Amino acid sequence: MPMSKDAEEAEVTQRIRALICDALPLDTNLTPLPGFKLNLSANPGFRKVFFADRCSCGTSALLSVEVSKEKTIPEIREALPSLVDRLVQQQRQFESMPCDLHLQMRLGPASSRV
Ligand SMILES: [Zn+2]
Repeated sequence: MPMSKDAEEAEVTQRIRALICDALPLDTNLTPLPGFKLNLSANPGFRKVFFADRCSCGTSALLSVEVSKEKTIPEIREALPSLVDRLVQQQRQFESMPCDLHLQMRLGPASSRV
């Protein structure tokens, strides 16, 4: 029986997430997040993969990369260095913020997203 579109979609996203996880630096703080059922992406042509970063002050940041649905797994494999790079940049940005700002992010408006 062929997989439903949703199941297939979840499967592919999971594979992409696993590929990115494997490519992340070993000492990374990033943890992969399971996909959200909500369609948060404004771009329906993209798959969004989410990771969480956590500061020692307890603030978590939601990081994400988008991968075109046109891309096949081998193509994504090739693009891995730039995907990881984008995540690491978001991570650095979050981790270079002072914890004052982290706390504001927790309490403040959602506009302080990275
Ligand atoms: Zn902090």
